[in-house]
Amino acid sequence: MNIKKRNGNSKLGRFIKKVLFIDLLKGMSLTLNYNLSRSFTLRYPDEEKWIPYKRFRGQHTLNRDPQGRELCVGCELCAKSCPTQCITVVPMEDDTGRGIADRVAKVWKVDLVRCMYCALCEDACPTEALKLGREYELACFSLDCAVKGKDELLVPIEEQKIPDEFEGGVVARARLEITDKGIRVIPDLSKCKKWW
Ligand code: SF4
Ligand code: SF4
Repeated sequence: MNIKKRNGNSKLGRFIKKVLFIDLLKGMSLTLNYNLSRSFTLRYPDEEKWIPYKRFRGQHTLNRDPQGRELCVGCELCAKSCPTQCITVVPMEDDTGRGIADRVAKVWKVDLVRCMYCALCEDACPTEALKLGREYELACFSLDCAVKGKDELLVPIEEQKIPDEFEGGVVARARLEITDKGIRVIPDLSKCKKWW
């Protein structure tokens, strides 16, 4: 009975919205707001850099636990769940305490040219070893350097450029760095301002 009433109300609500062009007016007010707001120029890449929100999906990171052990157990679930098959995992036995289990990844690499940043690999990972991070400057001088290996991705938490607890959604002061590997803009997270 209640369900029917709720459905009835929502039908009535939808009808009123249609008659009064509520959605159209909402859309137009948003457009008008943008037209009247102050324009904002980001001095990227020389002086400033956009730091994305936590939910951003950029380059992968492989993580360690607080004791510094590798969280990846080489189970290959990330590779199996990847729709573009751009992850390669080769597992191996290792009882030296390097990882959280006696199995670690001997090879873990991802081809970022084929990746579509869907995060299915992150969802499939049982140990939270794999995360899509907030690094988005992925341009480099050859296709080879778009294949990122374990050495590059297994960054200790304290050395990550943008710490996980950092909220993001801000513009940071930054400096441009051009190396053999490509162009990177290094942000100073202690000097941030709101985007708008
Ligand atoms: S983000 Fe998607 S496409 Fe990219 S490696 Fe993960 S599962 Fe594959
Ligand atoms: S990153 Fe996660 S899902 Fe992929 S092999 Fe390692 S533990 Fe398994």
